Amino acid sequence: MIPYGKQSIDQQDIDAVINVLKSDWLTQGPKVPEFEQAVADYTGCKHAIAVNSATSALHIACLALGVKHGDSVWTSPISFVASSNCALYCGARVDFVDIESSTGNMCVIELERKLVHAKKTGQLPKVIIPVHLAGQSCNMKRIHELSLEYAFSIIEDASHAIGAKYQGDPIGNCTYSDITVFSFHPVKIITSAEGGMATTNDSSLARKMQLLRSHGITTVDTEMTEPSHGPWYYQQVSLGYNYRMTDLHAALGLSQLQKIDTFVAKRHQLASLYNDLLNDTLVTPLNQANDTYSAYHLFVVQLKIPCKIKHHKLVTQLREKNIIGHVHYIPIHLQPFYQEMGFKLGDFPNAESYYQCAVSLPLFPNLTEIELEHICSTLKKLLN
Ligand SMILES: *Cc1c(COP(=O)(O)O)cnc(C)c1O
Repeated sequence: MIPYGKQSIDQQDIDAVINVLKSDWLTQGPKVPEFEQAVADYTGCKHAIAVNSATSALHIACLALGVKHGDSVWTSPISFVASSNCALYCGARVDFVDIESSTGNMCVIELERKLVHAKKTGQLPKVIIPVHLAGQSCNMKRIHELSLEYAFSIIEDASHAIGAKYQGDPIGNCTYSDITVFSFHPVKIITSAEGGMATTNDSSLARKMQLLRSHGITTVDTEMTEPSHGPWYYQQVSLGYNYRMTDLHAALGLSQLQKIDTFVAKRHQLASLYNDLLNDTLVTPLNQANDTYSAYHLFVVQLKIPCKIKHHKLVTQLREKNIIGHVHYIPIHLQPFYQEMGFKLGDFPNAESYYQCAVSLPLFPNLTEIELEHICSTLKKLLN
């Protein structure tokens, strides 16, 4: 069976975790700050805050930006549900901006149209969360320009995109956003088993997120309302959570980070082989903009319309042949929980047609060229 994604773990990763198990700290030791510093250095960002998942990172990013009841947050309907749930955790309303069909990313023309309308009705969003689908950056320059005109904050959901570049610079440097969020779930580019990270250049946002990930508790004198009672003393100054990353997870993440460029280069090599072998077939890979370098978390193809074989049947038949194709994503607004809030079929037509024709083919660093050729020839047979 060929899965659609899989982690690559070597002896160095295993040793890194075992060393933590033999050390004095399993959590809140030296590995978490080391991993944070390494991600800050790698992305060229001032601060990195490690947490137990990207979902937690999205939640505290929204809170740090002041998202609350009465606010509205916009994201892409073609994403994992965590991209929009984070706003609901804060009591805010969610809305979506339809995608650009060729890349699956938030469409900036549609975004502008929606902002113009929202300004007239007094319903501008507080935060917009563009999602770098499959590892390719959204048009961040344009989204940033619009944020200046319409006064919203930006959280990049870069769960797919650590190791990617935009206009030559690393995703996560926050040139065009307030906060960037990464996921280290095993199917993503690098893994800490479970884990996430938020990067920012704003020290006040960074401090807020540090407090929020650990109960809202501070041990810093200047953040307290009265002099310390002694060396045991701490104060809870806001309502936070236990979203901390452990040292075991951080050690694994840190070890994986050393291999990130090799992983992404391997993903590119395989993607380009897919492009060659699937040229002149009834599927089209996602378009790659010329100012992006994808992390290639996913290799997505879209069935050309009209195609004889139905999307659903294609994915099912690939699976019958032990090739685990996948579909990213079921449009969030069509989930029953979101339909209960009033969203319905027809609200975001590009996202809905995308869902009818997108297939994620297996892609991970240890996928062999022989496996990839087998996937392509199987796919071709099914298409014809
Ligand atoms: C994986 C993913 C998340 C959630 O990541 P976790 O680390 O599993 O919480 C959020 N957004 C997107 C786009 C993702 O792919």
